[in-house]
Amino acid sequence: MGKGRKKTADEVDVILIGAGIMSATLGTLINELHPRASIEIFERLDEVAAESSDAWNNAGTGHSALCELNYTPQRPDGSVDITKAIKIAESFEQSKEFWSYLVANGLVDRPESFIRSIPHMSFVFGKENVAFLKKRYETMKGHHLFQGMEYTEDHALLNEWIPLMMEGRDEKELLAATKIDIGTDVNFGALTRALFRHLMQQGGVKLRLAHEVRDIERAADGRWEVTVKNLTTDRKRTVSAKFVFIGAGGGSLLLLEKSGIPEAKGFGGFPVSGQWLKCTNPAVIAQHHAKVYGKAAVGSPPMSVPHLDTRVIDGKLALLFGPYAGFSTKFLKNGSWLDLPASIKLNNIRPMLAAGMDNIPLTKYLINQVRQSPEDRLAALREYVPTARMEDWELEIAGQRVQVIKKDEKHGGILEFGTEVVSSADGSIAALLGASPGASTSVSIMVGLLARCFPERAKTKQYLDKLREMIPSFSRSIAADEQLCRETRERSAAILKLEPTFESV
Ligand SMILES: Cc1cc2nc3c(=O)[nH]c(=O)nc-3n(C[C@H](O)[C@H](O)[C@H](O)COP(=O)(O)OP(=O)(O)OC[C@H]3O[C@@H](n4cnc5c(N)ncnc54)[C@H](O)[C@@H]3O)c2cc1C
Repeated sequence: MGKGRKKTADEVDVILIGAGIMSATLGTLINELHPRASIEIFERLDEVAAESSDAWNNAGTGHSALCELNYTPQRPDGSVDITKAIKIAESFEQSKEFWSYLVANGLVDRPESFIRSIPHMSFVFGKENVAFLKKRYETMKGHHLFQGMEYTEDHALLNEWIPLMMEGRDEKELLAATKIDIGTDVNFGALTRALFRHLMQQGGVKLRLAHEVRDIERAADGRWEVTVKNLTTDRKRTVSAKFVFIGAGGGSLLLLEKSGIPEAKGFGGFPVSGQWLKCTNPAVIAQHHAKVYGKAAVGSPPMSVPHLDTRVIDGKLALLFGPYAGFSTKFLKNGSWLDLPASIKLNNIRPMLAAGMDNIPLTKYLINQVRQSPEDRLAALREYVPTARMEDWELEIAGQRVQVIKKDEKHGGILEFGTEVVSSADGSIAALLGASPGASTSVSIMVGLLARCFPERAKTKQYLDKLREMIPSFSRSIAADEQLCRETRERSAAILKLEPTFESV
């Protein structure tokens, strides 16, 4: 990048589509690794981070599998599988390392504007769920990544941990919780904006707001020609690049299909919308101080796990409960009702139908969620906050998730709840599909994407040295090396000011 043929005004090295946390992270990584690369970013909205990456559109959980029960499934023999939890916890440490590098080197400032310490808790009721949580705790407590996790069934201790959730409960109710103090609340919107502020100060980086990418085509010389519409002037322009990243969130699938790469064939998307209940009573908000994740009901999808979340948004404490799922054919919160039908092609209709047939419980669940009345939503909240009153909570629309559907030999098509990078064989174009654990693991996803798209460059000493400067644990294993884990966490905590300092909010 940055070398070779002479560029005209409409040629750049890199095009990033979408101005969410993913493009912000990739753009910053590329700029650090190749400061001379020219980068043009196109965003259809007139501000950055206004879709899923905005603080109110996601839950802001620094996903490190400390409390999310869907990352630790129970095996048929009853044991708990923590493989995925370890991977996610490790990825989140890499994110914190990269953010620490940004702060330590003055690329972004005021870490407290985007990350805060907050205990992460799991909370369950009923005999079976209590037995599961205990087993999960027993399995995790021996691993250094989850050191410091506490478990209790004792109502008196639960009263200290989560008074708001304990008020008004039957003393005999069988409850259990785990708590770990190293959890975080992350304002991914604030982080994205800080990253773009930094990028905008770099020569060679241009951000075009209110510019919608309409088409992506391969030119005869192998470059990608991206057609963009300026939504203010209605003018169209074509810009070409050697490398394109489709970081359009829910909009990525439609653009990936336009690229025509064979690797995109067979992918489909299943949109799931979300809603929160947002607490409006400061006295109630002040009574809770944790991110508390429950267990999804049998048959419901992982993203439906209810949680009661302390948030810090723009320096103010907030309290959210949800998400309540819903169905909409839009792929973006600010999208079109035609998104889903437009995404259906001959090459993905079979996987989509097969995934639909295999996921009837999900469809039923969504139908039930859509039909919920305010009273139903209050009843769900009261399982977590028994004394909740309707007048203290209002409904907020969350971001839109597009779950990945992909071809599968056995089933014809499967629905996935994770993220998926799809790239062309020559690495010149890549897209990110899917939602979870998403923003928290954006750094490892983007580092992996770079290695996949630029395999030769990613082996050079210069590249590896720079990556190790940005992510000191890179190519080593925090999961296998306890000492490395401790050192990494201590360094990140010191730079990102991660200690329980909620009094200062
Ligand atoms: C309800 C909910 C809760 C979540 N909770 C968490 C959580 O607790 N922790 C966590 O880590 N993650 C969470 N996530 C996931 C996280 O929000 C996403 O992984 C992350 O924000 C995705 O970032 P992105 O940059 O890919 O997409 P986005 O932030 O959606 O950005 C994509 C951008 O592309 C733009 N765009 C789309 N089409 C075009 C086009 N044609 N031309 C130009 N621009 C275009 C959009 O306008 C948008 O600004 C949650 C998501 C949801 C929806």
